[in-house]
Order: sequence, then structure tokens, then C-alpha cells
Amino acid sequence: MSNMNDSRYTQATVLLRQRLGCSVSVDGRDLFEKSFDGMKIAFKADAVVRPQEESEVGILLQLANQHRVPVTTRGVGSTLTGSAAPRYGGWVLDLSGLSEFEIDPLTNFCHAQAGAITGEIQNAADAQGRFYPPDPSSLKWCTIGGNIACNAGGLRCVKYGVTRDYIVALEGYLPTGEHVKFGRDLKKFSSGYNLRDLWIGSEGMLGVVTRATLKLLPAPRSRQTFLAAFTSERAVLESVQELLVGGEVQPSILEFLDRLSVKGAEGGIGRSLFPEAPASPLLLVETDGHPAQVVEDTLTIEKWLGRTAITFLKSNSAKEAEELWEVRRQCSGAMFQLANSKLNQDVVVPICREADLVDFIDTVREKTGLPIAVFGHAGDGNLHVNVMYDRSSRETRVVAANAVKMVMEKVVALGGSISGEHGIGLAKTAYTDLEFGNAEFAAMKAIKKTLDPRNILNPGKLFEKFEPWRHDPVEVQLPWDHTRPLG
Ligand SMILES: Cc1cc2nc3c(=O)[nH]c(=O)nc-3n(C[C@H](O)[C@H](O)[C@H](O)COP(=O)(O)OP(=O)(O)OC[C@H]3O[C@@H](n4cnc5c(N)ncnc54)[C@H](O)[C@@H]3O)c2cc1C
Repeated sequence: MSNMNDSRYTQATVLLRQRLGCSVSVDGRDLFEKSFDGMKIAFKADAVVRPQEESEVGILLQLANQHRVPVTTRGVGSTLTGSAAPRYGGWVLDLSGLSEFEIDPLTNFCHAQAGAITGEIQNAADAQGRFYPPDPSSLKWCTIGGNIACNAGGLRCVKYGVTRDYIVALEGYLPTGEHVKFGRDLKKFSSGYNLRDLWIGSEGMLGVVTRATLKLLPAPRSRQTFLAAFTSERAVLESVQELLVGGEVQPSILEFLDRLSVKGAEGGIGRSLFPEAPASPLLLVETDGHPAQVVEDTLTIEKWLGRTAITFLKSNSAKEAEELWEVRRQCSGAMFQLANSKLNQDVVVPICREADLVDFIDTVREKTGLPIAVFGHAGDGNLHVNVMYDRSSRETRVVAANAVKMVMEKVVALGGSISGEHGIGLAKTAYTDLEFGNAEFAAMKAIKKTLDPRNILNPGKLFEKFEPWRHDPVEVQLPWDHTRPLG
């Protein structure tokens, strides 16, 4: 565990305990558990603070600003980028206890505290025939505050968009401790600058969200799932383009799995879903909405897959749909059959260049000799590139880092972005120069300096270079690691 500031904040922490009492913990186990996130690279904090009231966040930030103590806000730490790890020590502000929410049936808004769990909001909306669409795969654990800070996406983005598309208003505190509300709990408003959207995706560097107003939709009443096998990765991705260009159907899911992902997932399930075409690249397709619309979409999808796929399966029940989904659910965890570690890049390219990226990854595999599995959201160009490597070998770590660099250079050359939904954190700082020019960096830094003049909120992220492959991860099992096959 790295800590550059061992007892520099002790005095400020004493003052914090005087103000916030039992909300502040310096217990060794607490400090360890909040020293890392899903990236598993640890930095020791000086205190973990769990506010009982939203107003305590303002008190903490005022003190932190006064004494220049770094503050790292945290939901449940499921980010894979290191953005919730306390890079320079100081105080970890754990908001997972502020988890209340309620649905207003008249406006169809959900008023949620930052620590509310995304999946619980979805379940509560569903119980009322309503729908909160953003669906990161981590939704059972992650918080709405974390989703907002990362502008989280998910499988349904192709039809429904990302977290940003469902945020009406945000309430919280500036890094100086002043209370603000960006946006209003109204169906429309057009007053002042849109600072709400500046907070969304800013990875906890520009303010702390304590409360959000979310937009809900009526729940789709029907859905239909398909799984199709193709001759090649390019055939899958060109077929996706054909469907989208046709414009007749707006699918809610278009998930791509390359051969290596399918091989791993089929190993996990213990059977092949298409024995006549084992380990072929796959596409998972779903359409949802009014039952009559889903019937019409189904006919179009059947014709399209009949033309472009080798073969396909269609679900006739919720149970069958779940069976088709299993291959997609398994593939992330099943990767660990290939090697003990992965560098997971959530890159995004224009939809028309996805096949070019996947072809290029073949070249990277050949040059590095590493298994690289690709799966993800083909309908919005957001592909997860999983470079698998053995972290016990320093040599292999460097080869893996080079593989990622090659991929990132290609992504940007294709007109893409180095992150589609996870953000930069520490993990991707090595590649930000590829995407942002001097003027863009300068504009971002100027905003940071205006809102956070003492650089106390989540310092060390986005702007400073960090090379994760040079750090030993902590050996811990996190709740979401359970799908990882042992051995
Ligand atoms: C198994 C797994 C699957 C995943 N699948 C997806 C996916 O499909 N799509 C996707 O987008 N991501 C995915 N993720 C990444 C991660 O779950 C998301 O980024 C999620 O939004 C993080 O939420 P969290 O509550 O864990 O936030 P944390 O990890 O605790 O924090 C993430 C960032 O948000 C900041 N932050 C947290 N709360 C606040 C707040 N209240 N105010 C200001 N800043 C705050 C933190 O400082 C940090 O920078 C996945 C992760 C895992 C482990």
C-alpha cells in the first residue's frame, strides 16, 4: 500500500472528529477496506467518514479546504479505474449510508440520496410499472452517486442512453463546502448555466453529489430476446450496421461477443449454445416496448438474422431468454480461465469502425502473444477489450501495458474515445494525451481550479500520469468477484 503523507493530516482529523463524532472512523480495518476500489491498488487514507446527514458533507469539505486535506468521495468502490482510491491519503467520504429514495408518481421522478443502490431504484420503479433504464452490470452493488460521477452506461444504452440522460437535478456541495443545487425538480427550466452536466462524469473531482432527481419512464410491457451465431467478428459487426441503417427497429440490446469471449463463456456454462457452430462469435439482441411493437420488431429481426447470421435462437419464455443471456453474463468472469489478471478497457469507436478495431486487435494478439477477448455494446460502439496477462511476471505486465497502448492509439486514430463508460480515474491517465489537446486540458484544469482552488477533491486523478501495471494489486475478494471461476 502506498501512502506519501503518513501523518500529515492527523491534526485536521482530530478537528474533524470533534465536529462529526462517530461519523469518523480511524479503525485499521475500515482504513484498509476503503483504501482501494475495483482496480485493487491501495493507498492508505487517514480517516473514513460516513455522514449520517447530508449537511455533514458540507462541514467536512469546509474543514478539508481549510486544512488542505485530500477528500475522496466513494459509493461502494466498484469503479475499475482507481477513481475512488485515496491516491494522496486524507479522508474517504463514504456516502453508501445515505441511501434513501422515493418515487413521485405525478412527475415520474425518483428523488434519491447519492448512496441509493441503482438496482434497488430499478426494482422499486419496476414494482410500480415504471422504469429506470441505466443498467451497469454492477447495478446490484453500485450507487446512483457513483453512476452520476462516472456517467455510467450499460447494456440498454443503445436504445435508452446513459445515466446523464436521466438526471433532472443534482444537489450537493462544492469542494469549498458550499451547498448548491444544479437543475430544478421541474419538467423544464432554462435558467443559468448547465452546471448539472458538468458534475456528471467528473469522477468526483468537481463536487460531491448528495442527492439526485432522476427521470423514470413507463416500464416496457414486453420483450423478445435472440442469440445469433456468425461466421466472423466482422460479419457480426457489419450485420449490426445493416440493422441500424435500416432504421425499422430500435433494439434495446445489441451485445457482441468475440470467439475468445464465447469460448470462455461456454466453458463456464459447460455447453455450447450452438453445437453446430461452437465458439462462433455471437450477437445477443433484444427488443422491448408495447407488445404489438415487439411482435412487429420480431418479424424484422428474424428476417435480418436469417439473412446475416449462420443460425439464431429466439426465446419463447422468460426462462429461455435467461438461458440466452447466460453466455453474456458469464463472459466477463470466464476470462480468468485465460490468465489471472486483466486490463479491461471500455473503449468506444464510431459504429462504422468497430469491425476495423476488432481486426486490429487480431494484430495486437499476434504481436504480443497475449489472449485479448473483446465483448460489449455493439449498438453504441462501446467495446470492452480485455487484455489478459499474468501479473506475477513483471515482463508480462509490460507486454500487457504495450498491448493496451496499441489499442488506445488505434481507438483514437479511428475517431474514438479511450473510455465509453468507466471514466479515466488512475487507470487511463497514461493515454489521455492521445485524446485531449493542450487547449482541452487547459479548459478542464481551469474549471477544476475555479471550483476546487486548493485541489482537495479527488486529487491525482485525470491530470496526473499513473501506471497501474507497475503496482501490485491487493489480494482481496470483492462482492462482484464471485462469478470469477476459481483456479
Ligand atoms: C462487475 C462490474 C461490472 C461493471 N459494469 C459496468 C457497466 O456495465 N457500465 C458502467 O458504466 N460501469 C460498470 N462498472 C463500473 C462501476 O460499477 C461504475 O462506474 C459505477 O458507476 C461506480 O459506482 P460506485 O457506487 O461503486 O462508485 P465508486 O466506485 O465508489 O466511485 C466511482 C467514482 O465516483 C465518485 N463518486 C462516487 N460517489 C460520488 C458522489 N456522491 N459525488 C461525487 N462523486 C462521487 C468517486 O469519487 C469515484 O471517482 C462495473 C464494475 C464492476 C465491478
